Amino acid sequence: MGSHTVKALFLDRDGIINVDYGYVGRYEDFEYVDGIFALIKRFEKAGYKIIIVTNQSGIARGLYSEDDFNALMSAVQQDFYQAGIGEVSVYFCPHHPEHGIGAYKKQCACRKPNPGMLLQAAEEHSVSLPLSIMIGDSWRDIQAGQKVSLSHCYFVSRKAPPAGAELGNVTQVTSLNDIPVPSSV
Ligand SMILES: [Mg+2]
Ligand SMILES: [Zn+2]
Repeated sequence: MGSHTVKALFLDRDGIINVDYGYVGRYEDFEYVDGIFALIKRFEKAGYKIIIVTNQSGIARGLYSEDDFNALMSAVQQDFYQAGIGEVSVYFCPHHPEHGIGAYKKQCACRKPNPGMLLQAAEEHSVSLPLSIMIGDSWRDIQAGQKVSLSHCYFVSRKAPPAGAELGNVTQVTSLNDIPVPSSV
């Protein structure tokens, strides 16, 4: 293990990058959430590596393939480049414990709330998890961040967290535009 000093901004995809219409597997159905480009730019400028971590049970369910997903995310990366954003890394879980077809039916370590994708990304990009931040619209995203002791999580939702949820280091907002520019630590 090298020294892990990179600050990461972990972003959920559906509901944070794009409007969550459910199982979005085609670029035609990919509608950006208001404020996402500005948010990514602000964090990039503050020195954060941008990493998408997304559960994609649509792959497990056979609604679209890993190739479809990768093609879609390449198109999204092109949009980011056009907006002046650099490379954004993408980690996805193609599994589902009950609804997966064939090898995709699996109790895996990567499906949030498990932190497998964050741990893998941290390893591959020398990320310091205690310096990093998660933004998600599902409580599962927040739990994944809490399991690896991120510095802060933003829960983007109008719904209350589930009963008994651990609220430490979590701020709830209703819009990406309400997430503050990180202080330059
Ligand atoms: Mg989501
Ligand atoms: Zn998985």
